Amino acid sequence: MAVPQRRTSKTRKRLRRTHFKLNVTGLITCPNCGTMIKSHHVCPKCGFYDGKVVYLNGKYVTKEAEKKAAEAGKKSTRKPAKKSVEKKAEPKAE
Ligand SMILES: [Zn+2]
Repeated sequence: MAVPQRRTSKTRKRLRRTHFKLNVTGLITCPNCGTMIKSHHVCPKCGFYDGKVVYLNGKYVTKEAEKKAAEAGKKSTRKPAKKSVEKKAEPKAE
């Protein structure tokens, strides 16, 4: 059986072991704010996920909340839009 001719010195052993290290996997940069985040996780800093704000001011932005916000926004914008369309349509017909 082959046997090492010399004992491995402390330095050689330690130099060899400098390459033994754990590498951090699954970390990506947030496309919105640029911090290092776990992939497939909501960014803890800005609350972004999949190009959308998912977590804002300590609360998750749910679909129901989005619908309510959209309805509230549409109600205020729809009424004047309809009026303006009706007004425009009347003079054209005459
Ligand atoms: Zn972010």
